[in-house]
Amino acid sequence: MKLTFFGGCREVGRSCSLIESGGDHLLIDCGVKIGKEEEYPLLSHEDIHRIKHIGITHTHLDHVGFLPHFFHEGGKARIYSTKPTRDMTQLLLADYHRILHMRRHRKSYFSLKDIESVLNHSHILEYGQGTKLGNLNFSLHPAGHILGSSMIRVQGKKSILFTGDVNNRGTRLLDPAEQGIHAHTLVMESTYGARGDVIPSIKIASAELAKSVTRTLHKGGFVLIPAFAVGRSQEILLTLESYMRSGAIPKAPIYVDGMILKANRIYRQNVIYARKEIQMRILASDEDPFASTLFKSPRTKHKSEVFEEPAIIVSTSGMLTGGPILRYLSEVAGDHNSLLMLVGYQAEGTIGRSLLDGARTIEIDGEEVDVRLKVENVSFSAHSDHQGLLQFASSVKGLKRIFLVHGEDKKQGELAAALKRFEVIIPKNGESYNL
Ligand SMILES: [Zn+2]
Ligand SMILES: [Zn+2]
Repeated sequence: MKLTFFGGCREVGRSCSLIESGGDHLLIDCGVKIGKEEEYPLLSHEDIHRIKHIGITHTHLDHVGFLPHFFHEGGKARIYSTKPTRDMTQLLLADYHRILHMRRHRKSYFSLKDIESVLNHSHILEYGQGTKLGNLNFSLHPAGHILGSSMIRVQGKKSILFTGDVNNRGTRLLDPAEQGIHAHTLVMESTYGARGDVIPSIKIASAELAKSVTRTLHKGGFVLIPAFAVGRSQEILLTLESYMRSGAIPKAPIYVDGMILKANRIYRQNVIYARKEIQMRILASDEDPFASTLFKSPRTKHKSEVFEEPAIIVSTSGMLTGGPILRYLSEVAGDHNSLLMLVGYQAEGTIGRSLLDGARTIEIDGEEVDVRLKVENVSFSAHSDHQGLLQFASSVKGLKRIFLVHGEDKKQGELAAALKRFEVIIPKNGESYNL
């Protein structure tokens, strides 16, 4: 068996690797790296034409973003994923297309027709359902990261498990990643692999969020929560809904804006992939948390009604790189009673990161804005931390070798040192290994 890494090595972005045996193959993920310059997997024209099978772990753009480019460049492959992944991929790729179109920084990029091709070539698999591709067998297993996220286990002469993005702790919405899978080789993400990476439990993070929200609303301020449309937003909304219903935070309108509403709909339609308790609430009672009357969406274009009374605003984008959140931020940036609550990873070069690093002036749409609102940070990460990754690796049965991917190399070095009872490899993009 041969394993090739086309992207996602020593970086977070453009995840893409190929497992081959005899003449059979499966490409695992097909992502882009979004930053100042967009980066793609190192797939040659020839690779794009010969690859016929792609397994997708989950719907974030660093795992699916290259799919429409793949079809645009003449590729044609069957795409395997869970149903929530397929449904949300449509939403995210349409948004990605819109952003590229707005930037117009590339002469040629994919069209809406290419997104259609991606969807037409999608093939839905259930967790645990085996699929045979000649010499290879593969199956999807719950990864605990976002709704429908999967690890992919491939069985040839040897067995190999790709974690995709993995969370081995349960969240409000999701069960933890499946444990105890048998695999000789593990290709594991390492986003929060450094020794110092400790992600607080959902309970502690929620309590911290509640405290800050309460303080802000009591002072008459607004709470702004930038969040990624898929995954984090739903966790945050359910946390706020549950706390407000129980009286742990004061009653106030919760405005939801951006792509989040559409993602919520997909979450509800696919609720059988969520934790049992959430399923029961949506399917068997009148207490559907996503349909809560506490959630409102702004009705006017200027969104001015949002500012009539103290409120909580949850909106995209998660790192303040665009989206309606910027409109809200420019409105309340000067108000020292208001709060910007960052709940996820803030990449370098984003407004989110500079605010986190203490910037007091930022630029929104070419205008300088003075920042007087409070900026806080509480981690609602959908990934495992250092200890979590160690625990996950030790749960894998018969494990001999680990490839660390999807992380910065300094963090990977620290994680590798802690995993030394296995053979650990930190591959580079473009490298191939015989298993
Ligand atoms: Zn992800
Ligand atoms: Zn990822």
